[in-house]
Amino acid sequence: MPPRLDFDNSYLRLPERFSARVAPAPFPEPRLVRLNTELASSLKFDVDWLTSDEGLAFLSGQSILDGSEPAATAYAGHQFGNFVPQLGDGRAILLGELLDCEGRRFDIQLKGGGRTPFSRMGDGRAALGPVLREYIVSEFMAAAGVPTTRALAALTTGEPVVREQVLPGAVLVRVASSHIRVGTFQYFAARQDVESLQALADHVLWRHYPEATTAENVYRSLLDSIVAAQADLIARWLLIGFIHGVMNTDNMSVAGETIDYGPCAFMDTYDPATVFSSIDQFGRYAYGAQPQIGLWNLTRLAETLLPLLSDNEGQAIAIAQEALDAFEPRFLEAYHAGMARKLGLIEQRHEDASLANDFLAAMMENQVDFTLFFRNLSSAIQPGIGDEQVRSLFVDPTAADTLLERWRARLAEEPQDAITRKAAMDASNPAYIPRNHRIEEVIRAAVDKADFAPFHELMTLLSRPFELQPQYARYATPPLEHERVRATFC
Ligand code: AMP
Ligand code: MG
Ligand code: MG
Repeated sequence: MPPRLDFDNSYLRLPERFSARVAPAPFPEPRLVRLNTELASSLKFDVDWLTSDEGLAFLSGQSILDGSEPAATAYAGHQFGNFVPQLGDGRAILLGELLDCEGRRFDIQLKGGGRTPFSRMGDGRAALGPVLREYIVSEFMAAAGVPTTRALAALTTGEPVVREQVLPGAVLVRVASSHIRVGTFQYFAARQDVESLQALADHVLWRHYPEATTAENVYRSLLDSIVAAQADLIARWLLIGFIHGVMNTDNMSVAGETIDYGPCAFMDTYDPATVFSSIDQFGRYAYGAQPQIGLWNLTRLAETLLPLLSDNEGQAIAIAQEALDAFEPRFLEAYHAGMARKLGLIEQRHEDASLANDFLAAMMENQVDFTLFFRNLSSAIQPGIGDEQVRSLFVDPTAADTLLERWRARLAEEPQDAITRKAAMDASNPAYIPRNHRIEEVIRAAVDKADFAPFHELMTLLSRPFELQPQYARYATPPLEHERVRATFC
């Protein structure tokens, strides 16, 4: 018996032009690769049922449950700075919305579920490699406390997909607070459809920012809320070394979650110019460019909201500008607060920014691994042999010495016992991240040998990224020169 799930598809109650009803594609032989049982339980799924044949038919879009209304949503977007008035879900199919145990609303979406009216020349499919990458990275982000879409399940479809090579087809069952993007607003703005824009803005207010609805100018308050959520999110990305890779406006969620994991990657050696994405030729979306790009994207959002901000255009522009001006201070506040936690500081002081920046400059000059540096720093709270764990990461170890002394002098101004401080630092600095060369290894085993053991092992490790797991030491270290992955593909 299929379970009764309480689908409540609020997005489909918006006007018809917001989405198109679709039917997921038939697949020859869907097989479950991994189920996120914890997430499934929180969404009130019966895990035994989900792993049954019926559950598999549901997860792969082969059977549609009562209350589920498969649909693809419309959106536009700036891709690498160029506006495309119609994109939309070309290979993602929304099955519906569910409320979790705490009453929070989530989209359940199939990525790679088949063609839709928005597929253009695409096949509507996803290949196994990118599905595994998204599963790994999004679940790591969740474990590390970074707002993100989640992976409920990964499946293979039994159908080959043609990319540069023929690859195994797969589906990712994705869970998000919503899939509403900056590009969704742009879709209606480009059509000068103010009525739809307002309906969308009201929906986002109701769904994501109910506290903003009491403001005098609710649409200003909506913009403020999205600006703040994105500033906080991008600060979290920088603090964990994450490079999104395709920060197009259609890949920026108005809920402030990390969304659309394509050629994303984590930085090994610290360098703000780091780019992995094979499609990012000019470094538009480099690690250190992400805050500016975030503001650029939010500026595109603000433009769409002008007709709602005021009847007077000049005034609307002034309001939008004021809201956008809050991005930089908000980002810096979140970034420096996070950096203080990474450095083991309790209070934030003005001069701490220069200490952090000097550390980063020395790291760059000395090709230091970003993750290991912060993780190992807690060994050097007191001078002694622990210093070596930091020094040895530097090409010139003496470059670390004066900085370590400066840092310890700063720590001494905030007396705290070393054990407590180390625990706090280790809870802010992951020991393990999904390094690119390890993700590639996992994908190779799965694609070439249908061996999913490395994928499951990596998922086990990354579900507790702050906890030392000595049996997995190989995952902690940066790539050797010949292991280095220089480009990622979506
Ligand atoms: P992305 O680069 O994933 O943000 O996707 C950009 C646009 O291309 C979106 O409209 C996607 O739905 C669409 N798209 C990407 N891959 C496919 C595919 N295999 N089939 C159909 N549409 C696709
Ligand atoms: Mg996208
Ligand atoms: Mg995508």
